Amino acid sequence: MSQTTRRYDTLAAARSWSPAINGEFKQKHITEVFGEYTLTLDGLKERLPKLVWSELKNTIEDGQILDPTVADAVALAMKEWATELGASHYTHWFQPLTGATAEKHDSFITPNQGGGAVAEFSGKDLIQGEPDASSFPSGGLRPTFEARGYTAWDPTSPVFLIENQNGKYLCIPTAFASWTGEALDHKTPLLRSVESLDKQAKRALALFGIDSKRVSSTVGCEQEYFLIDQEFFYRRPDLMTSGRTLVGSKPPRGQELDDHYFGSIPDRVLSYMLEAEQELYRLGIPVKTRHNEVAPGQFEIAPMFENCNIAADHQQLMMIVLKKIAKKYGFECLLHEKPFDGLNGSGKHLNYSLSTKEGMNLLEPGESPHENMQFLFFFSAVLRAAYKHQDLLRIAIAHAGNDHRLGANEAPPAIISAYIGEQLEDIIMQLLNGGLKNSIKSGLLGLGTPVLPTLPKHAGDRNRTSPFAFTGNKFEFRAVGSSQSVSFPIVVLNTAVAEAIDDLCTSLEKKMKTKDLEVSLKEVLVDTLKETHKIVFNGDGYSDDWQVEAKKRGLLNLKTTADALPLLTSKKNIDLFEKYKVLNSREVHSRLEIWAEQYVTNLNIEVDTTEAIARTMVYPAAIRYITELASAVKETKDLGLKNSGSVNMLNTVNNALNDLGKALDNLTKVQGALKGGDVLEQCKEYKEKVIPAMTEIRDCVDLLERFTADDYWPLPIYREMLFVK
Ligand code: ADP
Ligand code: MG
Repeated sequence: MSQTTRRYDTLAAARSWSPAINGEFKQKHITEVFGEYTLTLDGLKERLPKLVWSELKNTIEDGQILDPTVADAVALAMKEWATELGASHYTHWFQPLTGATAEKHDSFITPNQGGGAVAEFSGKDLIQGEPDASSFPSGGLRPTFEARGYTAWDPTSPVFLIENQNGKYLCIPTAFASWTGEALDHKTPLLRSVESLDKQAKRALALFGIDSKRVSSTVGCEQEYFLIDQEFFYRRPDLMTSGRTLVGSKPPRGQELDDHYFGSIPDRVLSYMLEAEQELYRLGIPVKTRHNEVAPGQFEIAPMFENCNIAADHQQLMMIVLKKIAKKYGFECLLHEKPFDGLNGSGKHLNYSLSTKEGMNLLEPGESPHENMQFLFFFSAVLRAAYKHQDLLRIAIAHAGNDHRLGANEAPPAIISAYIGEQLEDIIMQLLNGGLKNSIKSGLLGLGTPVLPTLPKHAGDRNRTSPFAFTGNKFEFRAVGSSQSVSFPIVVLNTAVAEAIDDLCTSLEKKMKTKDLEVSLKEVLVDTLKETHKIVFNGDGYSDDWQVEAKKRGLLNLKTTADALPLLTSKKNIDLFEKYKVLNSREVHSRLEIWAEQYVTNLNIEVDTTEAIARTMVYPAAIRYITELASAVKETKDLGLKNSGSVNMLNTVNNALNDLGKALDNLTKVQGALKGGDVLEQCKEYKEKVIPAMTEIRDCVDLLERFTADDYWPLPIYREMLFVK
């Protein structure tokens, strides 16, 4: 069968998808489904005796150790809830450092002595599990002779049910650690960072005369993704192994027309979104916004913000649900940062703020002068965190996929800077220059004090080119990659902000011994902003000028993962994580090891796949075409016809094929000459040698795609994948 026939079959199959055949989905009212498959704290409270509930509450709110009898009662309530809804199994659901989630199911059923079976699930089963941990990355934390790890229930995140057409199981969010207590997962440091942040933020609030029970960061993530028909997906080895197209030339019509963004959503896509959203509602995930994104085939979904720990769990679940439901609609959901070269990639804007349990957003300029002093304090603390730990913010988003996106004229550059808008910039400058004028801009809220400047009520201007932008009442960390877990970015923000608040509080407390709050605060802010202000950049982050300017300011510009990762284990960073009890030195080192290994492994898969596609799919196609061209040249010559067209084409394709041959040979040579060495040296070699060799192959393949006869081309092309919906 010719390749075209095969490709056209694929197209036909993609086109034949119809909701009438595939969809038996019935939409229900949101209030009917929201939280149906999650046992929230309120739900649990209803099912527990009062005394048990109040003990559990102490554990959840104040971190008190859980009494075993309480655990038994909670386990019983959970089991009843889950089995009533048809669950047969339970699993400890955790987030190993692969960035994905992991689960091992156990049945509720235990045989009894009479030969029957009873449903059993004890407090012990709830609190602790022992998955065989040996296949999860530990970065040297767990010697192989001690392969065991354990999972520990996180009572602050609600349990939930996962459903498939044949049954359901109960998922218990857990942390995952080695037997020596070292964190092997993303959740443990996240929970630890929440504690430190809470402690420091409450200390600061006390200085402002506010007594809060608890402060946590709030997080809302805008998830971008691509949808393509599954028929194409399964015909592309690169999408299957790497999640992105490793070859493929830009379609004649890309995103130039700008007609996709916020356009009307195609019917089949909308059907998919509706079902995915309903599934997310069931799980208690408050999704709110959906729209087309910039590139054809690209979409976005965003939930309302939640407490950071729950938001991180929900974000993992959201990726799982988006992928799962897509298949029901004949789609493959691509979460990779750069599935298609030459088109916009996908990010996951991480909106971040701080909030008290009583519901006060600490990054929201308030109504009264007092509230605004407080706002300036926390706002400056976040800026200082971003300035002092630019490297960590960069590392938190560093992985092979995101390297394609950052700085690629569509996403923020690799330089970490903060956009704060003109009005707040003006206020900082007023503070720094000592001369406080009353701002003349309209809509400003006076602080009613001669010491501190006036504040804008909604300083929410937009700047898409900034990696870290203040948008009125929250910061938006825009450089986060679409496929990644948001946990470590949150850990970095929480810890760095905790440190900044700690330091600012220490200075403030000292000054307040002799001066009043306003005067002290002004001095502290001026002190910290003098240096920290360098992180503020309101201009065009895509411009070349910014690269120069950032260098002048001494800001870091860590272009790739290989450049960023080694900084993770610097003394500054280890001191930070140790001081706030988020990660110890060994845990930091293990993360470096794991992420560096992942970088090399991912690239290795990409290289092997690129090579296989080039050698076994593209090369033969080009040869067939050359054979055909060669015989055309010969025959036209024999007939005495003018044949410059076929000769030219033959030359072009033949040269491109020769170049591809050379590029493939070069890759073999490069791979043969790799020195290996420790994993950081390998990262460097991959970045400097292997990626260029792979890119060279891609360039040759993409050139061949443009010249090889369409009916010989073995792979679905961009035009087909992006526009058939
Ligand atoms: P914008 O108008 O800035 O886009 P939206 O209200 O549409 O703001 O929110 C965008 C994202 O920011 C949503 O995911 C939302 O949940 C999140 N978000 C809003 N407020 C906060 C907050 N206080 N903390 C964390 N995330 C927030
Ligand atoms: Mg967006």
